[in-house]
Amino acid sequence: MLHTKSVLELSQMLRNKQISSVELTQHFLNRIEKFNPQINAFITTNPQQSLLNAKLADEKISKAEQTSLSLLTGIPIAQKDIFCAKNWRTTCGSKMLENFIAPYNATVINKLENIAGMVSVGKTNMDEFAMGSSNETSYFGNVKNPFDLQCVPGGSSGGSAAAVAARMAPIATGTDTGGSIRQPASLCSLTGLKPTYGLVSRYGMIAFASSLDQAGPMGQSAADCALLLDAMLGFDERDSTSLPPENADYQKIHENLKNIFENTQNNGNLNGLKIGLPTEFFGDKNTENCDPEILQAIENAKQELQKLGAEFVEISLPHIDLSVAAYYVLAPAEASSNLSRYDGVRYGYRSENYENLEQMYEKTRAEGFGKEVKRRILIGTYVLSHGYYDAYYLQAQKIRRLIANDFVEAFKNCDVILSPTSPSLAFKIGEKSNNPVQMYLSDIYTIGVNLAGLPGMSLPCGFSKSGLPIGMQLIGNYFDEAKLLNTANVYQNATDFHKQLPRDFA
Ligand code: GLN
Repeated sequence: MLHTKSVLELSQMLRNKQISSVELTQHFLNRIEKFNPQINAFITTNPQQSLLNAKLADEKISKAEQTSLSLLTGIPIAQKDIFCAKNWRTTCGSKMLENFIAPYNATVINKLENIAGMVSVGKTNMDEFAMGSSNETSYFGNVKNPFDLQCVPGGSSGGSAAAVAARMAPIATGTDTGGSIRQPASLCSLTGLKPTYGLVSRYGMIAFASSLDQAGPMGQSAADCALLLDAMLGFDERDSTSLPPENADYQKIHENLKNIFENTQNNGNLNGLKIGLPTEFFGDKNTENCDPEILQAIENAKQELQKLGAEFVEISLPHIDLSVAAYYVLAPAEASSNLSRYDGVRYGYRSENYENLEQMYEKTRAEGFGKEVKRRILIGTYVLSHGYYDAYYLQAQKIRRLIANDFVEAFKNCDVILSPTSPSLAFKIGEKSNNPVQMYLSDIYTIGVNLAGLPGMSLPCGFSKSGLPIGMQLIGNYFDEAKLLNTANVYQNATDFHKQLPRDFA
């Protein structure tokens, strides 16, 4: 039962030579072959390449001093198909990049494969250009939720979430622009974290909305996520928004994360931790927005956290109600600019029938992009256009600042903030796909975190009567990833929601 083991357990087995990376990789490749046709979590696999890398990892393990070896060497991982990976097809879920083979590695891929020695087992399905909350906008077909194949896994990192939930990989990368790590983690019973903006390099990560995009870990537990995050983060001079060492104390961040995955059992309680509860997320008003079963699970989680020593304080985020509206001005604005590079000239899809250059551009973009991406480009171009810029884009930027300020105020009175992750359980495939606004509201609890650039995570805290996973969100102050993961780790040592596998894929 290798696939029921955590990354930390698998790492131990690799080091003790109880198993080789080739065997481990083959085990997960077999599961992909068996389950992926039902779930559609992977767009591309390359077993030969994966096994070759596993062999290299085995050589590293046999040669290296154990102390100089990363705990991740030889561990299989699923990579969201938004990361350029050398010699791998990198599609970003779009027809536009259906046949694009990346000529270089994203920094995240480089760090995980070449420095840590992990083994990529495939590229995971996602909403087209990471725009969506259900994985239904992917050109490569929707992904199914392993807990109920009629339901969506969430999005945009739905392929990564489903891959780990069905244990086709022990851990995965995701990216989060407005909730795309946390919401699918919540819908698939995983632990996932979006780091402080600028902590993980965006180099080679296909851009959606550059001022919001961040990559992060999606895994079985907080401890595993701490381990992966530790290997992902760091200053990168090739990303102009990467935080330089003067502005981020990387050494301390690494130490704090290490403390979690090296002493997973030792942080026994949450004494002294002040958890803020935003009135906007818990008041009467919210009961209309949020599924009652989710609110109940959060209530139960509060009691558990209290038992572990945490205390609760009421806080307020007065402008948070404006976050979805501001996001759907700002993210499309940035997307419309980022996506202008797909013009059929340098790479990607090019229409076959055109009579002149103008038509080549038009047809390429009309045929290469899906409906949701076009909607975003249209909105983005509109809000940036002369005459509307002041009315929309500038206003949204001001709201963004007010929301960030709200969090600064809130963190004067608490250490972390608690909320639901998603207002609804995993919903039926097709249920929201014709109602964009309904779909956009999937992120009401997560989007403010991206606007403010803060770290946020989701972790399992229950199941509905129908057996669907429920997640809670913890939001931290800048650079407080370890505080979030430690809180989650203590909670996970006392609960076992994160250990329950989907029945048919156990
Ligand atoms: N669901 C949000 C959107 O569609 C967020 C996506 C994301 O975080 N990549 O834009």
